[in-house]
Amino acid sequence: MPKHEVILERSVPVYDQAEVVVIGGGPAGTAAAISATRSGKKTIVLEHSAQLGGMGTLANVSVFMGVGNVTGIYREIISEFLPAALPESHHQSIWPEYSPFEMRHYLNTKLEKEGVQVYFHTSFAAAVMDGPRLTAVVANTREGLRAFAGSVFIDCTGDARVAGDAGVPLHTGREEDGLTQPMTLMFMMQDTGKPVEPHLPEGCYFYEKVEDLPQGRHLYWGGRGDGSLLVNMTRVKGNGASIEDINYAEKEGLRQVFSVANYLQRTNHPTYALSHIAPQIGVRETNQIEGRYTLTEDDLVNSRRFEDVVAQTNYEIDIHNPTGGTHTDERKLDGYDIPYRCMLPKHVEGLIVAGRCISATHVAMSSMRVQATCYALGQAAGTAAAIAIDTGSPLPDISIPLLHERLAEQGVVFKS
Ligand SMILES: Cc1cc2nc3c(=O)[nH]c(=O)nc-3n(C[C@H](O)[C@H](O)[C@H](O)COP(=O)(O)OP(=O)(O)OC[C@H]3O[C@@H](n4cnc5c(N)ncnc54)[C@H](O)[C@@H]3O)c2cc1C
Repeated sequence: MPKHEVILERSVPVYDQAEVVVIGGGPAGTAAAISATRSGKKTIVLEHSAQLGGMGTLANVSVFMGVGNVTGIYREIISEFLPAALPESHHQSIWPEYSPFEMRHYLNTKLEKEGVQVYFHTSFAAAVMDGPRLTAVVANTREGLRAFAGSVFIDCTGDARVAGDAGVPLHTGREEDGLTQPMTLMFMMQDTGKPVEPHLPEGCYFYEKVEDLPQGRHLYWGGRGDGSLLVNMTRVKGNGASIEDINYAEKEGLRQVFSVANYLQRTNHPTYALSHIAPQIGVRETNQIEGRYTLTEDDLVNSRRFEDVVAQTNYEIDIHNPTGGTHTDERKLDGYDIPYRCMLPKHVEGLIVAGRCISATHVAMSSMRVQATCYALGQAAGTAAAIAIDTGSPLPDISIPLLHERLAEQGVVFKS
């Protein structure tokens, strides 16, 4: 909590302006930018880090969870980048692993080909409002504070940073206590083909048995066929949008990485060396906007369908224990729709929110948060932004049949 306040009042040069300004270049942001550009709109992306792909590259979450409906830009990315993983049938789930390094390069190239201007090292700082309307954002850049003006803004920061600053009410974590899913620092090990001397740096933990591990289980993938192992076995309690929690998590996550790697070397991976640690801890859950519709557990378990569907998934309810304990709540689902209204924030005009921070309860977001769904939401948000500009309609009033028509032209298929 701030101890006191300072007043910042200054003029900031406008560095660029576009019809559509996307903030955050993760799965939602890259898809939003591609679809807005394909819809004929000048589009820019402001990205805090040096890469596109969000958690999928930055945090090395380099495996796509299955969502049932492999469609739109997500399908296109798989067909171009991981063609061997693409199923014949539209109705099958796929769970492909990929190289986060090559994905980073692939996304750079893809957005260049599409004609999207991406600004790296450009971190959203403040929303500039004209009454209820968002008219520009101020970002911290390598040249200092710069403004970016636009007609429609798409908040794909994962944390709803833009929406929150613009005055949209936010909710965090479990309804009863606000606890969010814990964070995980992902890492990779490589099979060296010969025994490796287990190493444990000072200050790390010696795990004796599986129950001692942070998640109380093994969770890794080795399906790329190159001797690499992608490990998701650390777990740090906290909210990744809190200054204090993320500071602790980055250090504790690293302690756990060395400790889990040491455990794996002593147990079932004696020939594996630690080969890569994600540059930042993976954040599953922070803020959700208060939107025109809030997706709930009831919608998921009852396989609810919506007229204004923009994404479909059957990914399970998947809640890593918010208390930091070892349990994980995993419940299979048959599949459900996510409505457009979940991306429309209350009170603020000229803004859509796509990706994991849409309007959803703690349980509902645990299922809709995976990458393929965020790509689908981003694609719909970019298309909706273009329609709003073309027709002069406020974002909440655009024609849903027209949105569906434009998405269909981009290869999006919804199952009935
Ligand atoms: C540990 C972990 C394991 C996971 N496992 C899987 C899995 O196996 N498969 C799967 O499909 N999904 C998995 N997920 C979920 C999935 O990776 C994310 O939910 C998904 O990437 C969210 O996409 P997004 O675009 O909403 O946000 P993010 O991926 O979080 O991307 C947000 C982007 O916005 C940028 N940004 C943030 N703040 C600012 C700012 N102020 N200014 C400018 N840019 C900003 C960030 O740098 C980032 O690039 C996992 C997540 C975690 C954390």
